[in-house]
Amino acid sequence: MDADPELAAALGVPPDDLGDLLEQFQHDTFEGRRYRHLTDARRGLERGTAIVDGEVVHGFPSIPRTLVLDPGIPEYFDSRVTVEEKRNGYNVRVAAIDGDVLGFTRSGYLCPYTTAKVRELLDPGAFFDDYPDLMLCGELLGPENPYTPHDYPEVESARVEVFDVRHRETGTPLSVPRRRELCEEYGLPQVPAFGEYKPEETPEALREIIADLDREGREGVVMQSIDGTHQLKYTTSVTHRADLDHAFSLPFDYGRDFVFPRIVREAFQAVELDRTRGESRQRAQELGESILLPAIETIRAVQRGETVGEEHTVRGDPDVIEALLSHLRDQGIELEIGSDRREDGQRVVSFVKVAQATRDNTRDYLEGKLIDE
Ligand code: ATP
Ligand code: MG
Repeated sequence: MDADPELAAALGVPPDDLGDLLEQFQHDTFEGRRYRHLTDARRGLERGTAIVDGEVVHGFPSIPRTLVLDPGIPEYFDSRVTVEEKRNGYNVRVAAIDGDVLGFTRSGYLCPYTTAKVRELLDPGAFFDDYPDLMLCGELLGPENPYTPHDYPEVESARVEVFDVRHRETGTPLSVPRRRELCEEYGLPQVPAFGEYKPEETPEALREIIADLDREGREGVVMQSIDGTHQLKYTTSVTHRADLDHAFSLPFDYGRDFVFPRIVREAFQAVELDRTRGESRQRAQELGESILLPAIETIRAVQRGETVGEEHTVRGDPDVIEALLSHLRDQGIELEIGSDRREDGQRVVSFVKVAQATRDNTRDYLEGKLIDE
């Protein structure tokens, strides 16, 4: 079975190498079907690449980041650039396999919540009837979110917005105008767009866009070549601080690898965008507060014996919510359920993903355990 030449071709490896490659995949089941997915990039295949019933769903590529608008952007793009808002939720890929619409997370899990939400919020049946070989890539955002909750004034519960349409098997993107046209035609919500610019004009336009996004607490932008093949991201200061705040509220669960890049992003942004020393000082104070204050609060919470971790709320069909909670527990996540109620036939659950490392280490250090550094 492992010498399946079609599957080898779809994954872009010689048939003889297929067996070795498939060993790198993790096996899982969803709605009674077995599937496999790559939790790390391997042999040129993106993390999150999945195989369901012999069909390949290509992973979503990592988007490079520039630390400076100028010359980062004109150096990277040699033709017109489209600028879209970077939404702060989690990456979902939506594909139809044998006519079933499925929702994949970034690392290629078939997630019950994601699948239910994309079916309900995108209702992409008609799209996949016409384009079974394409997949939709989008962000699931909003406060009722099991992975990355973030408030948007325009989103009450959850929403999926498309930012890419790609060939399911190869991952090749459609051009930006074609993607926008298809989304329009099939009624699929899309990420907000800020227009098209020449590469050398983009840094200047972005200074203003970024300042507005920052004021509104929004994440940043993703720029793309019109043919969809080149993407670049840039994020706001408020996002760097929110990420640090989150990481330092669970200091033993978020690694140093997470923290360092965010401080570096902020430093480069200050050099490029601050006009006075006062502005940089203000930035430094806010950054410091976003590091120390949440950590202090967490240590105090552990001292009082409270649970520490990420809080989430989810809403949906009771069976879907039950399946989601099992899915999370199967991944070794300890959940503490807060409220659990019914609203209009839907189950609404608030829970904490218990941050075990932070809880245990903080407790030990509070009791006088020595730190080895
Ligand atoms: P990686 O570094 O591997 O890309 P990450 O999750 O750290 O992973 P982010 O910094 O969040 O990456 O940036 C890339 C992600 O941004 C995409 O995977 C996608 O989920 C999300 N995203 C939100 N809005 C957009 C958009 N308009 N265009 C493209 N991606 C977007
Ligand atoms: Mg993100």
